Amino acid sequence: MHLSQRFERISSRKCKREGLTRRFYANTGKSPASMAYSGRMITDSHGRAFRNLRISLTAACNYACTYCVPDGKRLQPARAELSAEEMVRAVRLLVEIAGIEKLRITGGEPLLSPKIDKLLPEVMGMSLKDVGLTTNGQLLKRKADLLIDSGLERINVSLDTLDAGRFKDIARTGDLATVLSGIDAVADAGMKVKINMVPMRTANEDQILPMLEYCLARGFELRFIELMKMGHLNSDARFQRDFVSMDDILERIGRFYEFERTDAPFDSTAVRFEIPGKGTFGIIANESEPFCSSCTRLRLSSNGRLYGCLSNVSSHDMSPLLAQPDEEVKPALAALLSRALEDKQPLRFSGEVTVMKFIGG
Ligand code: SAM
Repeated sequence: MHLSQRFERISSRKCKREGLTRRFYANTGKSPASMAYSGRMITDSHGRAFRNLRISLTAACNYACTYCVPDGKRLQPARAELSAEEMVRAVRLLVEIAGIEKLRITGGEPLLSPKIDKLLPEVMGMSLKDVGLTTNGQLLKRKADLLIDSGLERINVSLDTLDAGRFKDIARTGDLATVLSGIDAVADAGMKVKINMVPMRTANEDQILPMLEYCLARGFELRFIELMKMGHLNSDARFQRDFVSMDDILERIGRFYEFERTDAPFDSTAVRFEIPGKGTFGIIANESEPFCSSCTRLRLSSNGRLYGCLSNVSSHDMSPLLAQPDEEVKPALAALLSRALEDKQPLRFSGEVTVMKFIGG
Protein backbone atom coordinates (compact mmCIF):
# COMPACT_ATOMS: atom_id res chain seq x y z
CA MET A 1 0.00 0.00 0.00
CA HIS A 2 1.25 3.49 -0.83
CA LEU A 3 2.23 5.65 2.10
CA SER A 4 -0.09 8.36 0.93
CA GLN A 5 -3.01 5.92 1.09
CA ARG A 6 -2.03 4.67 4.52
CA PHE A 7 -2.30 8.18 5.87
CA GLU A 8 -5.51 9.03 4.11
CA ARG A 9 -8.15 9.95 6.65
CA ILE A 10 -11.58 9.17 5.27
CA SER A 11 -11.89 9.53 1.53
CA SER A 12 -12.51 13.21 2.26
CA ARG A 13 -10.87 15.21 -0.44
CA LYS A 14 -11.74 13.01 -3.37
CA CYS A 15 -15.34 12.51 -2.29
CA LYS A 16 -15.69 16.18 -1.67
CA ARG A 17 -14.26 17.00 -5.04
CA GLU A 18 -16.37 14.50 -6.94
CA GLY A 19 -19.51 15.45 -5.03
CA LEU A 20 -18.98 19.11 -5.68
CA THR A 21 -18.06 18.56 -9.29
CA ARG A 22 -21.20 16.54 -9.82
CA ARG A 23 -23.38 19.08 -8.05
CA PHE A 24 -21.80 21.92 -9.96
CA TYR A 25 -22.33 20.04 -13.14
CA ALA A 26 -25.95 19.24 -12.33
CA ASN A 27 -26.56 22.93 -11.62
CA THR A 28 -25.37 23.89 -15.06
CA GLY A 29 -27.87 21.54 -16.71
CA LYS A 30 -25.51 21.22 -19.67
CA SER A 31 -24.80 18.06 -21.55
CA PRO A 32 -21.36 16.58 -20.84
CA ALA A 33 -20.23 17.17 -24.39
CA SER A 34 -21.16 20.80 -24.58
CA MET A 35 -19.50 24.05 -23.67
CA ALA A 36 -21.72 26.81 -22.52
CA TYR A 37 -21.61 30.50 -21.90
CA SER A 38 -24.55 31.71 -19.89
CA GLY A 39 -23.83 34.84 -17.91
CA ARG A 40 -20.94 33.98 -15.61
CA MET A 41 -20.97 30.26 -16.26
CA ILE A 42 -18.56 28.84 -18.81
CA THR A 43 -18.13 25.15 -18.11
CA ASP A 44 -16.58 22.20 -19.90
CA SER A 45 -17.57 18.58 -20.25
CA HIS A 46 -15.99 17.75 -16.89
CA GLY A 47 -18.03 20.42 -15.12
CA ARG A 48 -14.95 22.59 -14.73
CA ALA A 49 -15.07 26.37 -14.84
CA PHE A 50 -12.40 29.02 -14.43
CA ARG A 51 -12.36 30.41 -10.90
CA ASN A 52 -8.67 30.96 -10.20
CA LEU A 53 -6.64 33.33 -12.31
CA ARG A 54 -2.84 33.51 -12.32
CA ILE A 55 -1.28 36.47 -14.01
CA SER A 56 2.36 36.62 -15.00
CA LEU A 57 3.29 40.23 -14.47
CA THR A 58 6.49 39.84 -16.47
CA ALA A 59 8.40 36.92 -17.91
CA ALA A 60 11.63 38.44 -16.58
CA CYS A 61 13.24 36.85 -13.54
CA ASN A 62 16.24 37.69 -11.38
CA TYR A 63 16.94 33.97 -10.87
CA ALA A 64 17.75 31.24 -13.38
CA CYS A 65 16.63 28.12 -11.48
CA THR A 66 17.86 24.82 -12.85
CA TYR A 67 14.34 23.38 -13.21
CA CYS A 68 13.09 26.46 -15.02
CA VAL A 69 15.90 27.43 -17.43
CA PRO A 70 18.35 25.02 -19.04
CA ASP A 71 21.21 27.37 -19.90
CA GLY A 72 21.57 29.51 -16.78
CA LYS A 73 20.66 32.70 -18.61
CA ARG A 74 18.34 35.00 -16.70
CA LEU A 75 14.92 35.38 -18.19
CA GLN A 76 14.04 38.51 -20.09
CA PRO A 77 10.65 40.20 -20.44
CA ALA A 78 8.44 38.77 -23.19
CA ARG A 79 7.92 40.81 -26.33
CA ALA A 80 5.02 43.26 -26.11
CA GLU A 81 4.19 42.77 -22.45
CA LEU A 82 0.93 44.32 -21.25
CA SER A 83 1.10 47.57 -19.31
CA ALA A 84 -0.14 47.71 -15.72
CA GLU A 85 -3.34 49.40 -16.92
CA GLU A 86 -3.99 46.71 -19.54
CA MET A 87 -3.41 43.98 -16.96
CA VAL A 88 -5.84 45.60 -14.54
CA ARG A 89 -8.48 45.79 -17.28
CA ALA A 90 -7.80 42.20 -18.27
CA VAL A 91 -8.31 41.06 -14.68
CA ARG A 92 -11.52 43.06 -14.36
CA LEU A 93 -12.90 41.57 -17.57
CA LEU A 94 -11.97 38.06 -16.54
CA VAL A 95 -13.67 38.54 -13.18
CA GLU A 96 -16.80 39.68 -15.00
CA ILE A 97 -16.89 37.22 -17.88
CA ALA A 98 -15.25 34.09 -16.49
CA GLY A 99 -16.41 34.51 -12.90
CA ILE A 100 -12.86 34.60 -11.51
CA GLU A 101 -12.90 34.66 -7.69
CA LYS A 102 -9.27 34.23 -6.78
CA LEU A 103 -6.19 35.88 -8.20
CA ARG A 104 -2.51 35.03 -7.88
CA ILE A 105 0.16 37.41 -9.12
CA THR A 106 3.22 35.59 -10.33
CA GLY A 107 5.82 35.60 -13.12
CA GLY A 108 8.74 35.49 -14.00
CA GLU A 109 9.43 37.39 -10.83
CA PRO A 110 6.52 39.72 -10.07
CA LEU A 111 8.44 41.93 -7.63
CA LEU A 112 10.95 42.71 -10.38
CA SER A 113 8.32 44.55 -12.38
CA PRO A 114 7.43 48.19 -11.58
CA LYS A 115 3.90 47.26 -12.69
CA ILE A 116 3.33 45.71 -9.27
CA ASP A 117 3.12 49.20 -7.68
CA LYS A 118 0.12 50.14 -9.81
CA LEU A 119 -1.54 46.78 -10.26
CA LEU A 120 -1.62 45.55 -6.68
CA PRO A 121 -3.68 48.38 -5.14
CA GLU A 122 -6.11 48.18 -8.08
CA VAL A 123 -6.75 44.44 -7.85
CA MET A 124 -6.99 44.64 -4.07
CA GLY A 125 -9.95 46.98 -4.63
CA MET A 126 -11.81 44.50 -6.85
CA SER A 127 -13.49 42.57 -4.00
CA LEU A 128 -12.05 39.25 -5.11
CA LYS A 129 -12.37 36.44 -2.55
CA ASP A 130 -8.62 36.07 -2.43
CA VAL A 131 -5.50 37.73 -3.81
CA GLY A 132 -2.08 36.12 -3.39
CA LEU A 133 1.41 36.59 -4.75
CA THR A 134 4.17 34.11 -5.53
CA THR A 135 7.75 35.37 -5.36
CA ASN A 136 11.27 34.09 -5.01
CA GLY A 137 11.65 36.57 -2.14
CA GLN A 138 14.83 38.25 -3.30
CA LEU A 139 13.12 41.67 -3.40
CA LEU A 140 10.62 40.97 -0.65
CA LYS A 141 12.17 43.17 1.99
CA ARG A 142 12.35 46.09 -0.45
CA LYS A 143 8.72 45.66 -1.46
CA ALA A 144 7.36 44.70 1.97
CA ASP A 145 5.77 48.10 2.65
CA LEU A 146 3.93 48.13 -0.68
CA LEU A 147 2.59 44.63 -0.09
CA ILE A 148 1.55 45.27 3.49
CA ASP A 149 0.01 48.69 2.77
CA SER A 150 -2.02 47.26 -0.12
CA GLY A 151 -3.75 44.89 2.31
CA LEU A 152 -2.31 41.72 0.77
CA GLU A 153 -2.78 38.98 3.35
CA ARG A 154 -1.09 35.95 1.81
CA ILE A 155 2.20 35.33 0.11
CA ASN A 156 3.94 32.25 -1.28
CA VAL A 157 7.71 32.30 -1.29
CA SER A 158 9.64 29.79 -3.37
CA LEU A 159 12.56 28.51 -1.38
CA ASP A 160 14.25 25.20 -2.16
CA THR A 161 16.92 25.01 0.53
CA LEU A 162 18.26 26.59 3.70
CA ASP A 163 21.82 25.92 2.65
CA ALA A 164 23.40 29.07 1.17
CA GLY A 165 25.69 27.15 -1.20
CA ARG A 166 22.95 24.90 -2.50
CA PHE A 167 20.68 27.93 -2.84
CA LYS A 168 23.13 29.40 -5.35
CA ASP A 169 23.47 26.04 -7.14
CA ILE A 170 19.71 25.88 -7.73
CA ALA A 171 18.86 29.57 -8.32
CA ARG A 172 22.27 30.17 -9.94
CA THR A 173 22.28 33.57 -8.25
CA GLY A 174 20.60 35.42 -5.39
CA ASP A 175 21.27 35.49 -1.68
CA LEU A 176 19.60 33.24 0.89
CA ALA A 177 19.98 35.62 3.85
CA THR A 178 18.21 38.40 1.92
CA VAL A 179 15.29 36.08 1.16
CA LEU A 180 15.01 34.94 4.78
CA SER A 181 14.99 38.52 6.08
CA GLY A 182 12.29 39.42 3.54
CA ILE A 183 10.17 36.53 4.76
CA ASP A 184 10.63 37.66 8.38
CA ALA A 185 9.59 41.21 7.45
CA VAL A 186 6.23 40.21 5.96
CA ALA A 187 5.55 37.49 8.55
CA ASP A 188 6.22 39.96 11.39
CA ALA A 189 3.68 42.29 9.78
CA GLY A 190 1.08 39.50 10.07
CA MET A 191 1.07 38.21 6.49
CA LYS A 192 0.27 34.50 6.07
CA VAL A 193 3.28 32.81 4.52
CA LYS A 194 3.47 29.61 2.50
CA ILE A 195 6.81 28.30 1.33
CA ASN A 196 7.08 26.38 -1.96
CA MET A 197 9.89 23.86 -2.26
CA VAL A 198 10.67 21.66 -5.27
CA PRO A 199 12.56 18.63 -3.90
CA MET A 200 15.09 17.16 -6.32
CA ARG A 201 17.03 13.95 -5.84
CA THR A 202 20.48 15.32 -6.67
CA ALA A 203 20.03 18.87 -5.40
CA ASN A 204 18.06 19.25 -2.18
CA GLU A 205 16.25 16.07 -1.13
CA ASP A 206 18.07 16.16 2.21
CA GLN A 207 16.58 19.62 2.81
CA ILE A 208 13.05 18.26 3.18
CA LEU A 209 13.33 17.91 6.96
CA PRO A 210 15.24 21.15 7.69
CA MET A 211 12.76 23.06 5.53
CA LEU A 212 9.81 21.46 7.30
CA GLU A 213 11.23 22.32 10.70
CA TYR A 214 11.97 25.89 9.66
CA CYS A 215 8.34 26.29 8.57
CA LEU A 216 6.76 24.52 11.56
CA ALA A 217 8.75 26.70 13.95
CA ARG A 218 7.39 29.86 12.30
CA GLY A 219 3.81 28.79 11.60
CA PHE A 220 4.35 28.76 7.81
CA GLU A 221 2.80 26.05 5.64
CA LEU A 222 5.43 24.27 3.57
CA ARG A 223 4.26 23.02 0.21
CA PHE A 224 6.39 20.52 -1.62
CA ILE A 225 5.93 20.71 -5.38
CA GLU A 226 6.66 17.51 -7.26
CA LEU A 227 9.04 18.33 -10.10
CA MET A 228 7.06 18.93 -13.31
CA LYS A 229 8.00 18.00 -16.85
CA MET A 230 8.00 21.58 -18.01
CA GLY A 231 10.28 23.16 -20.60
CA HIS A 232 13.62 21.36 -20.97
CA LEU A 233 12.59 18.78 -18.35
CA ASN A 234 9.84 17.55 -20.67
CA SER A 235 12.36 15.62 -22.72
CA ASP A 236 15.33 15.63 -20.42
CA ALA A 237 16.79 12.67 -18.48
CA ARG A 238 17.15 15.08 -15.57
CA PHE A 239 13.45 14.74 -14.81
CA GLN A 240 13.78 10.98 -14.19
CA ARG A 241 16.99 11.47 -12.26
CA ASP A 242 15.67 14.21 -9.99
CA PHE A 243 11.98 13.43 -9.53
CA VAL A 244 11.00 12.95 -5.86
CA SER A 245 7.51 11.53 -5.41
CA MET A 246 4.89 12.25 -2.76
CA ASP A 247 5.60 8.84 -1.21
CA ASP A 248 9.32 9.60 -1.04
CA ILE A 249 8.59 12.88 0.73
CA LEU A 250 6.16 11.26 3.17
CA GLU A 251 8.55 8.42 3.91
CA ARG A 252 11.29 10.89 4.82
CA ILE A 253 8.99 12.98 7.06
CA GLY A 254 7.47 9.82 8.58
CA ARG A 255 10.85 8.85 10.03
CA PHE A 256 10.56 11.80 12.43
CA TYR A 257 6.93 12.87 12.61
CA GLU A 258 3.50 11.30 12.81
CA PHE A 259 1.08 12.94 10.46
CA GLU A 260 -2.36 12.42 9.01
CA ARG A 261 -4.01 13.46 5.83
CA THR A 262 -6.43 16.29 6.26
CA ASP A 263 -9.07 18.08 4.23
CA ALA A 264 -8.17 20.48 1.46
CA PRO A 265 -10.51 22.83 -0.37
CA PHE A 266 -12.36 21.35 -3.37
CA ASP A 267 -10.17 22.89 -6.05
CA SER A 268 -6.94 22.91 -4.08
CA THR A 269 -3.95 21.58 -5.96
CA ALA A 270 -2.25 20.48 -2.75
CA VAL A 271 -2.76 17.32 -0.74
CA ARG A 272 -2.59 18.48 2.88
CA PHE A 273 -1.23 16.77 5.98
CA GLU A 274 -1.31 17.67 9.65
CA ILE A 275 1.38 16.98 12.19
CA PRO A 276 -0.77 17.09 15.34
CA GLY A 277 0.16 19.92 17.65
CA LYS A 278 2.81 21.24 15.30
CA GLY A 279 1.30 22.41 12.02
CA THR A 280 0.46 21.41 8.48
CA PHE A 281 2.26 20.83 5.22
CA GLY A 282 1.09 20.16 1.68
CA ILE A 283 2.25 18.34 -1.41
CA ILE A 284 1.39 19.46 -4.92
CA ALA A 285 1.49 15.97 -6.34
CA ASN A 286 1.29 16.62 -10.06
CA GLU A 287 2.46 13.11 -10.86
CA SER A 288 1.44 11.05 -7.82
CA GLU A 289 -2.08 12.41 -7.44
CA PRO A 290 -3.06 14.50 -10.46
CA PHE A 291 -5.70 17.14 -9.87
CA CYS A 292 -6.67 18.01 -13.43
CA SER A 293 -10.24 16.81 -13.01
CA SER A 294 -10.99 19.59 -10.52
CA CYS A 295 -8.69 22.26 -11.95
CA THR A 296 -10.25 25.73 -12.06
CA ARG A 297 -7.16 27.63 -13.15
CA LEU A 298 -6.74 30.09 -15.94
CA ARG A 299 -3.43 31.76 -16.73
CA LEU A 300 -2.76 35.11 -18.34
CA SER A 301 0.79 35.54 -19.66
CA SER A 302 2.63 38.83 -19.44
CA ASN A 303 1.92 39.50 -23.13
CA GLY A 304 -1.80 38.88 -22.84
CA ARG A 305 -2.24 35.24 -23.86
CA LEU A 306 -4.74 33.05 -22.03
CA TYR A 307 -3.72 29.49 -21.14
CA GLY A 308 -6.35 27.02 -19.97
CA CYS A 309 -3.84 24.35 -19.03
CA LEU A 310 -0.17 24.11 -18.02
CA SER A 311 0.03 20.90 -19.97
CA ASN A 312 -1.08 22.34 -23.28
CA VAL A 313 0.89 24.61 -25.56
CA SER A 314 -2.28 26.27 -26.93
CA SER A 315 -2.90 29.84 -25.96
CA HIS A 316 -5.46 32.47 -26.91
CA ASP A 317 -4.48 36.08 -27.48
CA MET A 318 -6.53 38.43 -25.33
CA SER A 319 -4.40 41.52 -26.05
CA PRO A 320 -6.30 42.74 -29.17
CA LEU A 321 -9.49 42.75 -27.11
CA LEU A 322 -7.99 45.18 -24.65
CA ALA A 323 -8.19 47.96 -27.24
CA GLN A 324 -11.95 47.47 -27.70
CA PRO A 325 -14.89 48.83 -25.68
CA ASP A 326 -16.45 46.53 -23.06
CA GLU A 327 -19.60 45.71 -25.08
CA GLU A 328 -17.55 44.37 -27.97
CA VAL A 329 -15.05 42.57 -25.79
CA LYS A 330 -17.52 40.47 -23.81
CA PRO A 331 -18.79 38.00 -26.44
CA ALA A 332 -15.32 37.70 -28.00
CA LEU A 333 -13.73 37.03 -24.63
CA ALA A 334 -16.39 34.45 -23.74
CA ALA A 335 -15.51 32.61 -26.96
CA LEU A 336 -11.79 32.69 -26.10
CA LEU A 337 -12.50 31.37 -22.63
CA SER A 338 -14.54 28.45 -23.97
CA ARG A 339 -11.63 27.54 -26.23
CA ALA A 340 -9.13 27.87 -23.37
CA LEU A 341 -11.29 25.59 -21.22
CA GLU A 342 -11.23 22.94 -23.95
CA ASP A 343 -7.43 22.90 -23.60
CA LYS A 344 -7.57 21.37 -20.12
CA GLN A 345 -6.33 17.82 -19.76
CA PRO A 346 -9.04 15.38 -18.71
CA LEU A 347 -7.07 13.60 -16.00
CA ARG A 348 -3.39 14.21 -15.59
CA PHE A 349 -0.55 16.52 -16.37
CA SER A 350 1.27 15.04 -19.32
CA GLY A 351 4.25 17.35 -19.67
CA GLU A 352 4.75 20.43 -21.74
CA VAL A 353 7.52 22.15 -23.62
CA THR A 354 6.25 25.52 -22.42
CA VAL A 355 8.30 26.88 -19.57
CA MET A 356 6.50 27.90 -16.39
CA LYS A 357 8.06 31.37 -16.45
CA PHE A 358 6.19 32.35 -19.60
CA ILE A 359 2.77 31.48 -18.38
CA GLY A 360 2.94 32.14 -14.69
CA GLY A 361 3.93 29.31 -12.36
N1 SAM B 1 9.51 33.89 -9.49
C1 SAM B 1 8.42 33.47 -8.69
C2 SAM B 1 8.84 32.38 -7.74
O1 SAM B 1 10.00 31.95 -7.79
O2 SAM B 1 8.03 31.98 -6.92
C3 SAM B 1 7.18 33.02 -9.46
C4 SAM B 1 7.36 32.20 -10.68
S1 SAM B 1 7.96 30.57 -10.44
C5 SAM B 1 7.91 29.98 -12.09
C6 SAM B 1 6.56 29.81 -9.65
C7 SAM B 1 6.79 28.46 -9.05
O3 SAM B 1 6.98 27.53 -10.10
C8 SAM B 1 7.99 28.36 -8.13
O4 SAM B 1 7.55 27.90 -6.87
C9 SAM B 1 8.85 27.33 -8.80
O5 SAM B 1 9.51 26.55 -7.86
C10 SAM B 1 7.85 26.53 -9.60
N2 SAM B 1 8.42 25.80 -10.74
C11 SAM B 1 9.03 26.29 -11.84
N3 SAM B 1 9.39 25.28 -12.68
C12 SAM B 1 9.00 24.13 -12.08
C13 SAM B 1 9.08 22.74 -12.44
N4 SAM B 1 9.65 22.33 -13.56
N5 SAM B 1 8.56 21.83 -11.58
C14 SAM B 1 7.98 22.23 -10.42
N6 SAM B 1 7.87 23.52 -10.05
C15 SAM B 1 8.38 24.45 -10.86
